[in-house]
Amino acid sequence: MAYVISDDCISCGACESECPVSAIAMGADHYEIDADACTDCGSCSASCPVEAISQA
Ligand code: SF4
Ligand code: SF4
Repeated sequence: MAYVISDDCISCGACESECPVSAIAMGADHYEIDADACTDCGSCSASCPVEAISQA
């Protein structure tokens, strides 16, 4: 289980700095979460203005 970023992401970057383990980075089309690094803390979810981050 890990949090995932959907295609709704507008690449604002707000979530990136919220992650304590630096699991969030810009991907090919939008920001992405490294499932192996994500600890499921949920910190990033609240920072997203378009609610693109949810638990897989
Ligand atoms: Fe990072 Fe926590 Fe979001 Fe996972 S749930 S990407 S560890 S902020
Ligand atoms: Fe994308 Fe939401 Fe992260 Fe902004 S906060 S980069 S819209 S997932």
